[in-house]
Amino acid sequence: MQVIEPIEEMRRWSEVERREGRRIALVPTMGFLHQGHLSLVRDAKQRGDRVVVSLFVNPTQFGPQEDFAAYPRNFERDRRLLDKECVHIMFHPSVEEIYPEGYQTHVEVEQLSVPLCGAFRPGHFRGVITVVTKLFNIVRPHVAIFGCKDYQQLQVIRRMVRDLNFDVEVVGHPTAREADGVAMSSRNAYLSPSERKAALCLNRSLRCAEEMVRQGERRADAIVGAVRAQIAREPLAQVDYVSLCDAESLRDIDKVQEAAVLALAVRVGKARLIDNVMLKP
Ligand code: AMP
Repeated sequence: MQVIEPIEEMRRWSEVERREGRRIALVPTMGFLHQGHLSLVRDAKQRGDRVVVSLFVNPTQFGPQEDFAAYPRNFERDRRLLDKECVHIMFHPSVEEIYPEGYQTHVEVEQLSVPLCGAFRPGHFRGVITVVTKLFNIVRPHVAIFGCKDYQQLQVIRRMVRDLNFDVEVVGHPTAREADGVAMSSRNAYLSPSERKAALCLNRSLRCAEEMVRQGERRADAIVGAVRAQIAREPLAQVDYVSLCDAESLRDIDKVQEAAVLALAVRVGKARLIDNVMLKP
């Protein structure tokens, strides 16, 4: 595996690969890799001849009170993991080169960025979409793989790709979970042993919602109420939001009729954890 830092070198590499007719698959990450990231990488290998994994802790998607400085990082470990997966390129640009002095251009997906996490993290999706746009322009992938765990992010990226006519196929990859059901996340590293146990309430409440729908419940208020009640039983957990929304528009719905997503964000200790489940009648 080759590690590339300069943007210009990344561009040149992609240009050569494209000219040779090879299909480039990109997996954007913020590093501190876990099996969830690696499942995206394996998916990428099936979809492209060349795999690029970008590793960039993007400052513009963190709010001023958020954990940018504290976000876990371990470059050497990440490099070893990706090397073992036979990734071709680890793209690791510097913050200074991505956002040079005088930087002032941002990309915003207006409506899909408003609800759910957007309501609690102002400017977050603007930062995400801006950096993904830049990565697409630099790496010029044919296909890019994102996790369904960050469901709103995936939808916002799909919309941006359509709206700005990017010639990139966007693939959503299912959420990888620990054996006990907790969604893998770099932020799980913040959890103490008791908080890690408390984090089980997210997945437990999602399974409860799934079961309710299987048994015929369709009313959003009943489902959301049950999910909130499940989480309220866990004293170390605090709900940011629980939302039952349309899988495409992310607008709240009253009834599960077509594809709906139950999405939630819960704070446990210093970690803000998100998870979701697709509910189909
Ligand atoms: P991050 O490093 O948190 O920005 O995540 C990089 C990519 O990995 C994003 O597309 C995430 O949605 C995806 N991802 C994170 N956690 C998981 C997981 N548990 N399962 C599948 N994909 C994930």
